[in-house]
Amino acid sequence: MPRVSRRALLQLIGTGGLATAITPRQAAAEQAAAQATRAMPTPRIRDITVIETAPGGVRLTVVKITTDQAGLYGYGCATFTQRADLIKPAVERYLKPLLIGKTTDRIEDIWQASYMSSYWRNGPVLNNAISGVDQALWDIKGRQAGMPVYQLLGGKTREAVDCYGHASGNEIAQVINSAKGYIAQGFRHVRVQVGVPGMAGYAAGQGTVKPVVGLTPGPVFEPAYYVRRAMQLFEACRKELGDEIELLHDVHERVSPNQGVQFCKEAEKFKLFFVEDPVSPEDIAYFRQIRQQCATPIAMGELFNSPHEWQGLVAERLIDYIRMHISQMGGLTPARKVAAFAEQFGVKTAWHGPGDVSPIGHMANVMLGLATHNFGINEYSPFNARTQEIFKGCPVMKDGYLYASELPGWGIEVDEKLAAAAPFGAEQGERGRLNGGWGELRRRDGTVIKQE
Ligand code: MG
Repeated sequence: MPRVSRRALLQLIGTGGLATAITPRQAAAEQAAAQATRAMPTPRIRDITVIETAPGGVRLTVVKITTDQAGLYGYGCATFTQRADLIKPAVERYLKPLLIGKTTDRIEDIWQASYMSSYWRNGPVLNNAISGVDQALWDIKGRQAGMPVYQLLGGKTREAVDCYGHASGNEIAQVINSAKGYIAQGFRHVRVQVGVPGMAGYAAGQGTVKPVVGLTPGPVFEPAYYVRRAMQLFEACRKELGDEIELLHDVHERVSPNQGVQFCKEAEKFKLFFVEDPVSPEDIAYFRQIRQQCATPIAMGELFNSPHEWQGLVAERLIDYIRMHISQMGGLTPARKVAAFAEQFGVKTAWHGPGDVSPIGHMANVMLGLATHNFGINEYSPFNARTQEIFKGCPVMKDGYLYASELPGWGIEVDEKLAAAAPFGAEQGERGRLNGGWGELRRRDGTVIKQE
């Protein structure tokens, strides 16, 4: 570059020559910015609606944001099956008036404003409502950019997300057969759950034996029986399925804290991929005891709502997998921060992904998993034919891996007419009577216990 003397420079400024010299670069930059802006004018929120549908007998809630630009809209998962009817008014009566007219560009700002707007924060209804809005805004941004959301998060760090399937049964042999079915499909990870004879189980019935009768009507669950039965299951699985398959198990926090510690110690020899929820969120101080006494990998978090619940566990390295329900914590915006926070402490992600997550929510799990270096595992829940008709573009399962859509945004289109034809309220029996809520589970003496 030729040297310009101070005198010559002053002359240039004096005559306006410097301005002339710089202008082409400025003009080029301004032109590029203007072109980008003109090509993608800032959309504004025109309407926010709520889609409610239960195509698989589970109440799914999806928020749709429509913009002032023709054909530009987005969907977000706001599914809270046990209190499903409360999400729609939370969105329509509280978030919609706050957000109408705002630019969709400012996802972080809208998340923060929505989060503050209820004064009392981190309730499951409001967090799910915010998630519906948040994920819809990410969908819109992806559609604007012509990119799947994982690209906006930094792009792929893997080709697909490794998944675990749910193998369950009343008898141990049934569980092993179910696990073999997943292994035959190519799965490398299987969650195994078995019923306790005569007692209410999780993902398993009471079997053919006579139900245990308690002092109150209804199903009975005794933690000590369950713990012994689970150890028998792990032993049989290792014998029948070998050492190569990764086994997972969910305690569902249905034992006392001390039993949770014992469970993890006794399970250590079976080298499980992880034990999930050995104690409840109310008893998280017990994770320190588990850590001190065994090296069984621990997954925790699907019931968490608030950062206060997970920050200590992660920062103190007391768990191995962080497992929140992404809509329950408020959407993709907080979830990607949690993933980045966990990475600093060697904790991996295992987002909650059962049937009570909509396909939009599952796609968010998959896309965040693709873009997260410290991804651990993805929970797999198959989509039935009706669900796939309503949600066109669900993640695709192959050989135990889920593949994301390569279309812009979440890559999913919702058929709202078909969704309306599968309304809430189709559940049979007790679940129907409780409007999708959960019933009671008691010990033999009638003591009600925590369940999930
Ligand atoms: Mg669980």
